[in-house]
Amino acid sequence: MRKQVGTLIVITGSMFAGKSEELIRQVRRALYARKKVQVFKSALDNRWDSAAIATHNGVRFEAIPVSSSAEMERLIEPDTEVIAIEEIQFFDEGVVNLCNRWANEGRTVIAAGLDQDFRGQPFGFMPILLALADEVVKLRAICARCGQPASKTQRLVDGRPASWDEPTILIGAAEKYEARCRRCHRVLNAPRNGHRRARRAHHIPTVEAAGQQERLF
Ligand SMILES: [Zn+2]
Repeated sequence: MRKQVGTLIVITGSMFAGKSEELIRQVRRALYARKKVQVFKSALDNRWDSAAIATHNGVRFEAIPVSSSAEMERLIEPDTEVIAIEEIQFFDEGVVNLCNRWANEGRTVIAAGLDQDFRGQPFGFMPILLALADEVVKLRAICARCGQPASKTQRLVDGRPASWDEPTILIGAAEKYEARCRRCHRVLNAPRNGHRRARRAHHIPTVEAAGQQERLF
């Protein structure tokens, strides 16, 4: 058992809110404090190149690309004190219990990811991860249309707002996605009961308690 009490920190918000910059800031602090740090990113995130976290303002940080939570679990070293994960929403939902378990072991886990999809709906397992977090850093961008604080990600296809039924593919160049405030965010063909319908579609997994080692999902 480590002396340190573990912590799960989740950095969230829309695209262009500065989540990567905040993750990098926290990783740099851990490195200054001479902690052993491992940084992971989703292999799906192919912005710029495969071995570095790239942020929209060009800051880069070395990170290990992984395609699943199981792969990340295999690569973690026993003496790693701080684990940072970029674009966590792209992982399988096993990552929720993995982060929780690492925190229970006394490690610091810093995870950055989108809280909502382009429809403005909760993104996959992110509501569960946010509920389990010891600390949530929720950041806002600036609305690309009106300049107000923005908490939504607008998806544009050929310059027009994307339709509700289009698949949730979220890695994108700046011309396909932009930050929008509630007033300027548009989703074509959105059902009136969209939120309830989307929630029913989600599988809400059971989360393991501290001390339990087996995976429940
Ligand atoms: Zn706006």
